[in-house]
Amino acid sequence: MADIIHLLPDHVANQIAAGEVIQRPASAVKEMLENSVDAGSDEISLILRDAGKTLIHVIDNGNGMSDTDARLCFERHATSKIRKVDDLYSLHTMGFRGEALASIAAVAQVELKTRLAQAEVGVRILIEGSECKVQEACASPKGTSLAIRNLFYNVPARRNFLKSNQVETRHILEEFTRVALANPGVRFTLHHNDIQLFDVRSGNFRQRIASIFGNQYNERLVPVEEDTSIVKLEGFIGKPEFARKNRGEQYFFVNNRFIKDNYLHHAVNAAYESLIPKDAYPSYWLNLQLDPSTIDVNIHPTKTEIKFVDDKSVYAILRAAVKRALGRFSISPSLDFDQERSFDLPLEKLQSAPIAPTVRINTEYNPFRPETMHLPKQEVPSVRAWPVTDSRAAVSWNELHRRLDERTSVSQEEIAVDELIHFLEEAPEELFNQTGAGVVTVARPDRVLLVDLKGALERIQFERYEAALDSKPMHTQQQLFPQRMQFSPLDAALLEELLPELRKLGFDLAPFGDNEYVVHGIPADLSSGQEKDVLQELFEQYRNNSDRLQISSREQLCRSLARSMVHKSMRQYSGKELRRILIDLFHCKNARYSMQGKLIVKEAGEPELLRWIQSGI
Ligand code: ADP
Ligand code: MG
Repeated sequence: MADIIHLLPDHVANQIAAGEVIQRPASAVKEMLENSVDAGSDEISLILRDAGKTLIHVIDNGNGMSDTDARLCFERHATSKIRKVDDLYSLHTMGFRGEALASIAAVAQVELKTRLAQAEVGVRILIEGSECKVQEACASPKGTSLAIRNLFYNVPARRNFLKSNQVETRHILEEFTRVALANPGVRFTLHHNDIQLFDVRSGNFRQRIASIFGNQYNERLVPVEEDTSIVKLEGFIGKPEFARKNRGEQYFFVNNRFIKDNYLHHAVNAAYESLIPKDAYPSYWLNLQLDPSTIDVNIHPTKTEIKFVDDKSVYAILRAAVKRALGRFSISPSLDFDQERSFDLPLEKLQSAPIAPTVRINTEYNPFRPETMHLPKQEVPSVRAWPVTDSRAAVSWNELHRRLDERTSVSQEEIAVDELIHFLEEAPEELFNQTGAGVVTVARPDRVLLVDLKGALERIQFERYEAALDSKPMHTQQQLFPQRMQFSPLDAALLEELLPELRKLGFDLAPFGDNEYVVHGIPADLSSGQEKDVLQELFEQYRNNSDRLQISSREQLCRSLARSMVHKSMRQYSGKELRRILIDLFHCKNARYSMQGKLIVKEAGEPELLRWIQSGI
């Protein structure tokens, strides 16, 4: 048989290698920004087109490169930062492998212009798919300008794999934020499609946080500082009352590079224990300086995870330092009257009078008397043990046995929706109850209906929003006194993108410049004053979910809004309201499932009730 093994041509090998380093425009942005920082720049501009798909252009005023280096930097394993393996362990920064530019050059059209401070002219190089097309002298300011055009132009499979511009932009903003936070001494600007999204001036860490997340953050930060022989720790944590619903604002930097570390995250969380609700996430921006020989940076290919030699000590120090900072903060009187977010109590506590404990014991219960039944706890854990007293609902044992015998299948049958809606419309409101855990119970003579209230409300809102985007825009209540709302640049960028859809959903917002918006109208079912919370939560939900789930951004918007609206409106409902909610629910296209696809309606007919009873009360 003929020989069949052959070596891959260089450009193919490079493309394959590139896949590991450059997965999407955001990965190129990260590598380019970090190179500019490493080159000692104090001003770096990032210019994007079409979420970086068409253009990523980074201009810095750093050291620049010589003619030879400018050519060499695109070769694989070309780096000025390490010479021998040992260097990997003594680096003060991380992630140097001399692969980034080679990878980028393999999958894009690249234009580099660079000049050393002492050189009279600079050099311009054009590379396409690893092939150098032009190298010439050119006039250029000191520093480096690197433009990446049409990323993945020669790898269509990868290009098609990219997500929508919104999603890719968000990834870029996240990388930009990380690098900008790690280097507060450097001024960064960011333009996307000719719109300036950021201009963050050089300053201290606190100012950097405020210029990225919004000036209101100044009030929310508690400084953390600790200097030990193992680690030097500095940075900020968020005051407990500003803890968020999602992990949006959690940043660890080790030796000035962003890292992810669940173990350290746990240390911070542990320090917040009992200060914030269980489902809330503390914000933190923490910088750890360690001797580079005590960390291993090469554990993860995209270099955001690292390994500490002495992770237990780092954990203990971190937790203690955060705890101490929180303690110091809470004993000093807080003069912060301008609270934008209230402490996140569980909803029932916030919005309704206290309700009595919900487990009721039927003292009359007697297993040998036909009129009393219990739903066993293990079937419906959060529903109260429920004595059937309504005579219509009391089914006699004999009757149940008789009907069961007649049936061949005991599977749960679906009630025809029309019949169900008809029943709900006719049913007296006393039949509708809401348990403390948010389950709606409805007793029919021949069956019991259980509905997850929150899931139901979300489903109803979600389908309304979908309809609003399709054809019937939501009703807007115009505000008599339009309020202004200030957003962080990140939220403002997202808001800008979502504005047309938000209009259809009832939010009438007009930009006022500088990340500020004027609220002319809000959805009719939202109370005035809640719009900011709802929007902020919407953005968080949207940002956190849209890149993970394989769903359209439109659906994502409807989901996020439904969730944040329902979050705001959860309370104890009257029987009459519950009836309305269930009727609305069963008018939905997908009434039985939550937005996440969880079953939210459970019915038990006689066979099920009988099985519950027989399975041993
Ligand atoms: P690494 O950063 O791991 O060394 P890269 O492929 O990112 O590898 O870059 C290769 C080399 O190109 C760097 O080591 C550096 O010498 C040079 N370089 C890249 N970007 C710049 C820049 N903006 N300014 C000056 N030199 C740069
Ligand atoms: Mg690099």
